[in-house]
Amino acid sequence: MFTHNKRLQYTVRVGAGNPGLANLLLEQFGGPQGELAAAMRYFTQAVGEEDPGRKDMLFDIATEELSHLEIIGSLVAMLNKGAKGELAEAVDEQAELYRKLNGAGNDSHLTQLLFGGGPPLVNSGGVPWTAAYIDTIGEPTADLRSNIAAEARAKIIYERLINVSDDPAVRDALGFLMTREVSHQKSFEKALYAISPNFPPGKMPPVPQFANVYYKMSEGGETVAAPWNSGRGLGIRQGEPAVDGGDGSATVQLDATQKAACVAMETRLMSDPTIDPETGAELGAAAVDTDVVDGGTEQPTKGGAV
Ligand code: MN
Ligand code: MN
Repeated sequence: MFTHNKRLQYTVRVGAGNPGLANLLLEQFGGPQGELAAAMRYFTQAVGEEDPGRKDMLFDIATEELSHLEIIGSLVAMLNKGAKGELAEAVDEQAELYRKLNGAGNDSHLTQLLFGGGPPLVNSGGVPWTAAYIDTIGEPTADLRSNIAAEARAKIIYERLINVSDDPAVRDALGFLMTREVSHQKSFEKALYAISPNFPPGKMPPVPQFANVYYKMSEGGETVAAPWNSGRGLGIRQGEPAVDGGDGSATVQLDATQKAACVAMETRLMSDPTIDPETGAELGAAAVDTDVVDGGTEQPTKGGAV
């Protein structure tokens, strides 16, 4: 069950209204690296988790992410509050109100007009939140790695938001949210290493002859020798087709009925490379001296007449 504590996890003090900044902060409210995505990612993983310790951790972090959603949503609401009141009560002349919503790089018209200054579940570009942001696959050795990467991305978005915020109190709250994502990254990494073995993800072992190979798939220029392509368990090899030793083609065994249908289809759709039909695009084009164009065997006479 859930209960709601009436106090935020971190106090939100906003120095002055700033609808443009509020719009940018929506990235962490309804965006792919945002708090709702994080909360739903860990909540759904927690529900399906069997390991008691990991289940506990996932519910704790999911619940904390909801608390972060409340903080970032409150920041958006406070940054929009003054403008929201002015818009609702139409205190300014139209032109003045328009300037406040759109002036000086402030593109908050979407939040203001459509959502009345409240925090909508969209990203900073107005794209609606979607469950497609969550890539859970139900295998902790894969999901924990994805969670680590998700926390890394969330940390980077907060860092960028701090860089564009000039309000010290907003920067302070964003700094807390950014820091917590670093802490979550640590927990997920430790939870991953608490599973042994955890690599490769899942149970099935890789095919030995391909597992430790780095295929060099580029031509023209030397490959930089590095740990990710050679040494300690990895060997570099020039990429080549049919590494299985086969002929590199694609085949399938079909029954007689399917085989007959495919032959009929291929016969019907077979191309004839010997015909050169006129296309619609060519019908309106100026006449061309074909002997010159196709480099024909006949020598074109002067003036183009043959
Ligand atoms: Mn968070
Ligand atoms: Mn987090």
